[in-house]
Amino acid sequence: MSLQIQAKQLLDDLGVDPARYTGGAMPSYSPVTGEQIGALTPDSVEAVAETIAHAKAAFRVWRTVPAPKRGELVRLLGEELRASKEALGRLVSIEAGKSPSEGLGEVQEMIDICDFAVGLSRQLYGLTIATERPGHRMMETWHPLGVVGVISAFNFPVAVWSWNAALAFVCGNPVVWKPSEKTPLTALACQAILDRALARFGAAPEGLSQVLIGGAEVGNALVENHDVALVSATGSTRMGRIVGPKVAARFGRTILELGGNNAGIVCPSADLDMALRAVAFGAMGTAGQRCTTMRRLFVHDSVYDALVPRLIKAYESVSVGNPLETQALVGPLIDKQAFDAMQAALEAARAAGGTVHGGAREAVASNAAYYVRPALVEMPAQTGPVLDETFAPILYVMRYSDFDAVIEDHNAVGAGLSSSIFTLDMREMETFLSARGSDCGIANVNIGTSGAEIGGAFGGEKETGGGRESGSDAWKGYMRRATNTINFSRELPLAQGVVFDID
Ligand code: NAD
Repeated sequence: MSLQIQAKQLLDDLGVDPARYTGGAMPSYSPVTGEQIGALTPDSVEAVAETIAHAKAAFRVWRTVPAPKRGELVRLLGEELRASKEALGRLVSIEAGKSPSEGLGEVQEMIDICDFAVGLSRQLYGLTIATERPGHRMMETWHPLGVVGVISAFNFPVAVWSWNAALAFVCGNPVVWKPSEKTPLTALACQAILDRALARFGAAPEGLSQVLIGGAEVGNALVENHDVALVSATGSTRMGRIVGPKVAARFGRTILELGGNNAGIVCPSADLDMALRAVAFGAMGTAGQRCTTMRRLFVHDSVYDALVPRLIKAYESVSVGNPLETQALVGPLIDKQAFDAMQAALEAARAAGGTVHGGAREAVASNAAYYVRPALVEMPAQTGPVLDETFAPILYVMRYSDFDAVIEDHNAVGAGLSSSIFTLDMREMETFLSARGSDCGIANVNIGTSGAEIGGAFGGEKETGGGRESGSDAWKGYMRRATNTINFSRELPLAQGVVFDID
């Protein structure tokens, strides 16, 4: 059965109106075969303004609903996601090219964040703070922020929305979502799933959750709208460089989740069997199209010859193929543009003295699909393309001999998302996790750079944008904080002993 028909059946099952994805001017393709699976109608810039006005009206109502009651909506969303897990996971695999297990894993992540947010809806705590004035009390309160605009990337087409939306809803905010133009169908499916939860919930205002279809111009209309209090944008650093200053210029708030150039360090004491498996998954999984994909590997001289030839063998033998029809571990690149970028980076690596293993196109599925053998590139130094993220399965491998120097090299790139060290030496481990160690938002020991759980705050530093989403106290980014001082005495003492008597 063609993927177009399969996608249509899944969209029908999930309750998406066919008018939303047929007959329009914006095609959507499956990277699995390159086949067209949808023809959507993009939203106009005027429609974006209307959508945001609608969300603003919803905010006035939703912010007054008690947070635990708002959590009930997210609980119902979690139930609906459980019921739709198979169908949505399959649709993710068709639209983003992920293996079935990764497609289902992405939906599981949505369910996990819903569970987290339900508990959070009863834990939006503020502090009570000691005051220097007698008969006074000082405290913090947290209030809903306003309309949250979510812009997402193709490679986590549904999870990123849920990380934002589940928190935004319990925090009292409506959400306007502009998914990647490469993965609009899964976004429509998420909205249909949420609509079922909203129908069961009953009391939510219209406009609490809306989806905008389109590319950068539609995203830009969202970014420039003064009624969007928070823009949570996930995508390339290139996109963040445009979006960040525009939102800052109107004093809006951003959560930027941008590119990564993640590295691992393999130390002399490392468990090499474990490192081999962790590096293989971290660097080749999802065909190198995770923001946390391992892209650089520093291997100590003393273990280089014991590890790298085995890694090269793994690269030569890993199965590349149609993720829907085979058990292949490496699926397709998203499109031709991604393939061209990969080839250009490999060419640049050769020019910089690198030895390239793999990287060629593989004939899978059809001419319109882009499958590649993952590439491992032995580099003499961290130069040229090694310094930047290429969103494809390329792992640059370099030797090191001095621990302090390798930490300097590790941190000497623009991005600061994820990092890991493989060592059984406590001093190396603790140094890597310390103030003079990894400068990334995620620093791991004896696991790879990818595969984060929702319980921790997710995000990175430097050119990764500094935003945090998901667990821990990331919810604070979706609320505004007020510091309140209450005088319950009969005096009016001023802070810092200031005197201002007017008798
Ligand atoms: P992309 O930057 O091309 O697009 C991301 C989104 O931004 C899309 O929805 C796109 O339409 C929108 N966009 C692009 N230009 C815009 C503009 N000027 N104004 C408003 N919106 C605009 O990224 P992609 O190719 O879809 O995804 C891959 C990139 O995303 C990689 O760099 C990857 O590392 C990054 N990523 C980061 C994270 C993270 O959490 N840090 C997660 C996933 C992906």
